[in-house]
Amino acid sequence: MNQATFIHQLPKVELHLHIEGTLEPEMMFQLAQRNQIDLPFASPQEVKAAYEFTNLQSFLDIYYQGANVLIEEQDFYDLTWAYLLKCQQDNVIHTEIFFDPQTHTARGIHFDTVIAGIDRAMKDGLEQLGITSRIIMCFLRHLDEESAFEVLEMALPHKDKIIGVGLDSSELGHPPEKFERVFSKARDEGFLTVAHAGEEGPVNNIYNSLELLNVSRIDHGVRCADDEQLVALLAESKMPLTVCPLSNTKLKVFDEMRDHNIVELLRRGLCVTINSDDPAYFGGYMTDNFLAVAECHALSQEELALFTRNAINASFVSEAEKRVLREKLDGFVATA
Ligand SMILES: [Zn+2]
Repeated sequence: MNQATFIHQLPKVELHLHIEGTLEPEMMFQLAQRNQIDLPFASPQEVKAAYEFTNLQSFLDIYYQGANVLIEEQDFYDLTWAYLLKCQQDNVIHTEIFFDPQTHTARGIHFDTVIAGIDRAMKDGLEQLGITSRIIMCFLRHLDEESAFEVLEMALPHKDKIIGVGLDSSELGHPPEKFERVFSKARDEGFLTVAHAGEEGPVNNIYNSLELLNVSRIDHGVRCADDEQLVALLAESKMPLTVCPLSNTKLKVFDEMRDHNIVELLRRGLCVTINSDDPAYFGGYMTDNFLAVAECHALSQEELALFTRNAINASFVSEAEKRVLREKLDGFVATA
């Protein structure tokens, strides 16, 4: 089996995916029409042309604009379902999806509307596509602590649908310590925690996410390489990093894929995983991310499979569910 086929067919597990970031320009236009919303673009092609980013903030500005077309429960269902079909194409067998409630509640969309649409699609994903999934709610870190507490309150009646909380949006200027109290409350309520850290921000954000937010995974975390002690700590503790290669090059965290440190971190024994982040904006879903890394870094089949093995270990499912995922991976590797 050649490497491209191996990568395509490899069972994959995604742990860093913002559902709002799967809004393809075509769907943005469909939903704008359905909900009679004016877009500042004349065509899906024009939207694509606008996806030239210089940093995280330049992306976020257009990302929040795009999310304005999401109004009804059905919109959130359609968005999630379209992503799950991409998962099926890419042999993603399990996915843990982020959503940003504040992006929607700030526009007057009810929290329950958002979660109901996403959850219904994920139930259909399990039934019709055999894809297991979990939902993680993210706080927007550029907003204040009070707003995060409000949204946490809204999430409490939906504990059965939400496994954890995370922290995303503009990292620079909004360090993890700003949300120490709200994360503490979230943990008391039984949520697991993750946080974006060390994407554009300094290594201190990784240390503080571990120490003050008690996270079970670091989202991105690639800047850990700036600090040898931290790399050793992450390797020893097997703290998972959900790395997003195409996102990192698109947002200039690394100039080129060949400069990316993901393979080096993997070989130094860190629990590194590959993820797509906001695939509609960054040029590819899971298979594309694997291919992009493999194109610039020589990887064995064992190493490619290790990305999935790490993601299974890092996932928020029960040991029994992990066993099922490992059987799928091992079954594929044995015949490849
Ligand atoms: Zn992200």
